[in-house]
Amino acid sequence: MINNFVKQVIENGGSIHPLLLPSTETFGTGIMNPSIFIDGDKILCNIRHVNYTLFHCEGEQLFGNRHGPLAYINPENDIKLRTNNFLCELNKDFTIKTYNKIDTTKLDIQPVWEFIGLEDARVVRWEDKLFFTGVRRDTKTNGEGRMELSEIVDNKEIRRDRIEPPNDPNSYCEKNWMPVLDMPYHYVKWTNPTELVKVNKDNGTSETIHLKNAFGNLQNLRGSSHIIPYKNKRICIIHECDLWKNKLNQKDAKYTHRFVMWDLDWNIEWISDSFSFMDGEIEFCCGLAEYNNELLISFGFQDNAAFLLRMPTKYFDTLANIKTKDYWRVTPYPTIEITTSIPPKGCVVDCAFCPQRTLLNVYNSEKMMEYEKFVDMIDRLPSNEIRITFSGFTEPFLNRRTADMILYAHNKGHRISVFTTGVGLRKEDIDKIKHINFSHGPNSGFILHLPDSERIAKHPITKEYIEVVEYIKTIENEINGFGIMSMGEVHESVKHIYPTAHIPTFWSRAGNLLGEAMIKPELEKIKDRFQHIDHGGKEMTCNCLEDLYHNVLLPDGRLSLCCMDYGLKHILGNLWDQEYEDIIPKPFTCFTLCSSCENGIEPKNKNNA
Ligand code: SF4
Ligand code: SF4
Repeated sequence: MINNFVKQVIENGGSIHPLLLPSTETFGTGIMNPSIFIDGDKILCNIRHVNYTLFHCEGEQLFGNRHGPLAYINPENDIKLRTNNFLCELNKDFTIKTYNKIDTTKLDIQPVWEFIGLEDARVVRWEDKLFFTGVRRDTKTNGEGRMELSEIVDNKEIRRDRIEPPNDPNSYCEKNWMPVLDMPYHYVKWTNPTELVKVNKDNGTSETIHLKNAFGNLQNLRGSSHIIPYKNKRICIIHECDLWKNKLNQKDAKYTHRFVMWDLDWNIEWISDSFSFMDGEIEFCCGLAEYNNELLISFGFQDNAAFLLRMPTKYFDTLANIKTKDYWRVTPYPTIEITTSIPPKGCVVDCAFCPQRTLLNVYNSEKMMEYEKFVDMIDRLPSNEIRITFSGFTEPFLNRRTADMILYAHNKGHRISVFTTGVGLRKEDIDKIKHINFSHGPNSGFILHLPDSERIAKHPITKEYIEVVEYIKTIENEINGFGIMSMGEVHESVKHIYPTAHIPTFWSRAGNLLGEAMIKPELEKIKDRFQHIDHGGKEMTCNCLEDLYHNVLLPDGRLSLCCMDYGLKHILGNLWDQEYEDIIPKPFTCFTLCSSCENGIEPKNKNNA
């Protein structure tokens, strides 16, 4: 049992907002049980106004009324329990922008029971009509309650339909059926076992269209909020009512609440712990909405106050253990490649087969990645399942803090890979990181790119550079996953250290080298050495082992689709201020770059590939 759920939500990024009506409208009596509803770009909320003030003696009940802990304090000239409804539009900060008392005079008849008016009206829009739906008990002398649908136009009730229950015409009080927002005229009449009913408002009947087996032992769950679609599921808030007697044998009640989550076939997947909103005993929730990545929950407190609770969906997802955005789990090798710097003239090695001009034409931002920002990003990654590869669009050790970044990510449990030319690498950097196991699946390891005799890669070959390569040679057996490559025959300056090296097949970097060749004469001369594929404009996705999750981080925090995207055509978002799982693409997403990449595949062929 959570005694103060509101406090918990606030501590996790939420906020609480009182919903106030002027006392000239309420005459000082209670407002309660608001119902929030997002109507297009408007935030609507019904606030129930009652013509009494509830006195409820809570806690140790030291100051009870002589008739019990609960008493209704009415105006002397009106001792009925009367409800009016005020339809409000809220501002974006959830203050009240407009309010209007609903005019029900067209359909009102002389009430014959002491509870008067439509109680706990939930606001919904079904088939383009705005409705209030709640219980009315003033039409029969015994107080029989039935759910009603009231159509509202311009703050007037223009039509009223009373709904008979599906199975038991003698049922005394039908209330708190929960309207299903995305299914017009459907309600969950009972939560567990789940009974879904469909209403025919034209003849006032209803029929049960789903009756599911019960889930667990919690079967006395009563309706509260709307039922809303949420991340391929449906969710709501229900209430439980503990009717108990105090030590003077006087009747009392305590309301608590729970979230319930169904799959789309109405199988209950989760029922939360019970909670009290603000540690009160009389609380009631009538509304739930999703708005701007947050849940809005509207509830009343002790029949005397109305509140809106704003709750980040991220926190709700944590409570409900919803992990719908962990798309990276389609591959065992989700990877972020780190571009630690983009110098004003690009990577100093300036390999002919690297589209540096293409990159410089479009990148005009932070030149050097800040260590602190990198650390913050690593701390916020959803899990250490993400492999961190230091390569990206330039030589990683051009940034003096790269070894520290490697060490930090490693210590946080991430798998690490490094692709370096050795330019900018210092012996102390190697000593810092040589203990790391760099060998983790495809495109992994600690790969040293050596200069070639044709100077396709133009390493600045200095005495210090050669010493670093010599040093690596002395300890290469200590580096797990160590390997070497070159773009041609190894350059004579380091041939005494590594006489030969693997020469990879060159591709056009998803077409980027075609444009690069036009502005780089040295590449134009050797363009027959790289291959290119064009899928003829077909919609393609990625067939790499890492799938769409080998993205490249830029020094300014932007995350680009992959190591082919030198033209930065597909920026997914920015990891300095967005969450990884919020910006990565869904599996099978197609990108234009993939249509000219050797790793592209049509989505329909992917599972068979
Ligand atoms: S291939 Fe690597 S080393 Fe060569 S220019 Fe591109 S980023 Fe720099
Ligand atoms: S361009 Fe598309 S297919 Fe090629 S590697 Fe990138 S994501 Fe994969």
